Amino acid sequence: MEQPFGIVIHGGAGTILKKNMTPAMEKEYTDKLAEALNAGYSILEKGGSALDAVEAAVVILEDSPLFNAGKGAVFTHDGKNELDASIMDGKTLKAGAVAGVHTIRNPICAARVVMEKSEHVMMVGKGAEQFAAKMGCAIVDTSYFFTQKRWEQLQEAIRVETIPLDHTDTTSFIYPEGPSDKKYGTVGAVALDKQGNLAAATSTGGMTNKKFGRVGDSPIIGSGTYASNGTSAVSCTGHGEYFIRNVVAYDVSAQMRYGRKSLSEAADFVINQTLQKQDGRGGLIAIDSNANVAMPFNTEGMYRGVRTSRGLNEVKIYENGEKGS
Ligand code: ASP
Repeated sequence: MEQPFGIVIHGGAGTILKKNMTPAMEKEYTDKLAEALNAGYSILEKGGSALDAVEAAVVILEDSPLFNAGKGAVFTHDGKNELDASIMDGKTLKAGAVAGVHTIRNPICAARVVMEKSEHVMMVGKGAEQFAAKMGCAIVDTSYFFTQKRWEQLQEAIRVETIPLDHTDTTSFIYPEGPSDKKYGTVGAVALDKQGNLAAATSTGGMTNKKFGRVGDSPIIGSGTYASNGTSAVSCTGHGEYFIRNVVAYDVSAQMRYGRKSLSEAADFVINQTLQKQDGRGGLIAIDSNANVAMPFNTEGMYRGVRTSRGLNEVKIYENGEKGS
């Protein structure tokens, strides 16, 4: 039987409600997701690697101001854009990550050079920026990442923080879209290529108003990103602290390997049981070696798209699977 192939992408999970969207906004999001999905898929179709496909898809989402990654990243409490990204090759288990970088235009490219051109897995801050520059990644002025919308979100988050919050809602100030629209806009992609290799990539600006060099799950191998040819490739989005504590991306793979669960059983368990019980909000995308896919989330919506050689081709936003437009 011919090896199936495919790609799944996400642009973040959260309180994404149809009533808060205009048809024009929906179209913008779905068009950009489709562009990223198709860029990754055409690489796979031509026999390209899963690694190239996930990187290409993530670069398109990083370059769009619609998502909280690259251009469009949220602001820290100090008014900076501090970016994190990681990538993993399911064939070799090699991985690369950068965290807390401010000048790398496409952090996912930097994660890839850490994986392929260094002996390390993770680099942070200035050192990561120096290495990425040396390896030819595009470096930009920090002002490249400024967007008015994200700046206003920071001001709102700072304002709300000064108001005593109800205990049940003490984290609302750090939600990327502000308390009225809790959305995590991290981007990610997972793919299976014609050679049967899996790969995963995730990129983020983290959470609005984050302080003290906070790093979330996105650049942490096993938490926000994981790929292993025997099981699955996974990329996560959501409240990073919960994803780190529960080692979510690896847990999907471990449940499959040791618990003999299917991809969808494993993915659904970690999002809708493990995280749900802890009130940990978010979702993940995953693909296995047969191009089975899973996209569970315990929020109202998750920007997502899937295209496989087995005939799936769709972009969705809301919980009930209702299409964007
Ligand atoms: N998981 C990311 C973080 O905690 C946020 C997101 O998914 O938007 O940094």
